[in-house]
Amino acid sequence: MTDILIRNARITARGAEPCDVAIAGGRIAAIGPHLPGGGTEIDAAGGLLSPSFVELHCHLDATLTAGTPRPNRSGTLWEGIALWAEIKPALTEESVYARARKTLLWMLSHGVTHVRTHVDVCDPSLVALRALLRLREDLRGTLDLQLVAFPQEGIYAFADGEALMREAIALGVDCIGGIPHFEMTREDGVRSVEWVLAQAREHGRLVDIHCDETDDDQSRFVEVMAAQTLRQGLSGKVTASHLTASHGYNGAYAGKLIGYMARAGLHVVTNPLDNSVLQGRFDGYPTRRGHARIKEMLQAGLNVACGHDSVMDPWYPMGDGDPLKAAFVLMHYAQIVGADERPWLFRMLTDMPAAAFGLSDHAVAIGAPADLILWDVPTEDEALRRLPPRRAIFRNGVLVAEREGVGMRVLGEALDVSPPG
Ligand SMILES: [Zn+2]
Repeated sequence: MTDILIRNARITARGAEPCDVAIAGGRIAAIGPHLPGGGTEIDAAGGLLSPSFVELHCHLDATLTAGTPRPNRSGTLWEGIALWAEIKPALTEESVYARARKTLLWMLSHGVTHVRTHVDVCDPSLVALRALLRLREDLRGTLDLQLVAFPQEGIYAFADGEALMREAIALGVDCIGGIPHFEMTREDGVRSVEWVLAQAREHGRLVDIHCDETDDDQSRFVEVMAAQTLRQGLSGKVTASHLTASHGYNGAYAGKLIGYMARAGLHVVTNPLDNSVLQGRFDGYPTRRGHARIKEMLQAGLNVACGHDSVMDPWYPMGDGDPLKAAFVLMHYAQIVGADERPWLFRMLTDMPAAAFGLSDHAVAIGAPADLILWDVPTEDEALRRLPPRRAIFRNGVLVAEREGVGMRVLGEALDVSPPG
């Protein structure tokens, strides 16, 4: 029994010829030309039907705090970290919940149905974590959240950092994070990676570590992640985020490292919006891009996701939660622009982050969950060129967002796209 029948949609894997997609019981039941009628019929008029987006890297505890208590005047990472340390003591569960929910509705309006967010646990009250644990349960099945215990100020560099990480694991985070390049010594950084992976194995959690997010070409903790992933038997469960130091590695080391990353089955997240403005700040001219070697990693067969990262926070004053804009910037920044390379860009927002998230069948395919974006434009290239508003978003076969006039309707409400305050 068909619930929804989308007619005349273009599906990338099936080429230029439009076809029909039948949805039943929350899943894609049939794909083909001229399917028999049934359920609610939607004419896609040749528009693209893509999988929904999976956002693998953001910081919902800090979202929509840009400008409080004052703006980041220099635009640097360090002023951002200092500002966040000032904001943290004033957080309340209600404020974190409301800001995070607002950003998540923006994301849903762009077609994001799964989100992994880091949550700073260098806070003895764990206020933000408690708020986001509640939000995770409230949104489950509509917009699925994974929470990462993220030690922004270090597991060992922050007083009682390890104890707070243990508490966050006990409270039920999905992933365990780290920030080895921010620990005080190389030895502490190595120890932090070893600790995180051992905890992940003991407690059956995923790993997502902010790793080598620096321009220091001597920052080499991804190699520790690869070695520990192999030793702990955690292939497929470990994600390395940022990796901007890899921009400065010599070719011989980068080649060796990428080989070991592939062998360990590491997932990678690159965050072109934040890192385009934060990196290279110690350089004179020429100024490095400060960006991970994404194309080489893709060519080596690594699973690479493109994350949005910040949405209006102390580190990045812009952003509206649309992953497509991050991919648009990545196309330029990483020179993923060749005709045979551009298909990676949509994959870095859909099936590749889905694999890291733990979703096995995130595709427009028979039997897969009907987590879909319907577009007015016919191709992925046209979506990237024009960055258009989405026509409709489906989660488990339910219409959760649709265009309404010049705005969007999300979960039955007209979406408010204005920033808070
Ligand atoms: Zn981050």
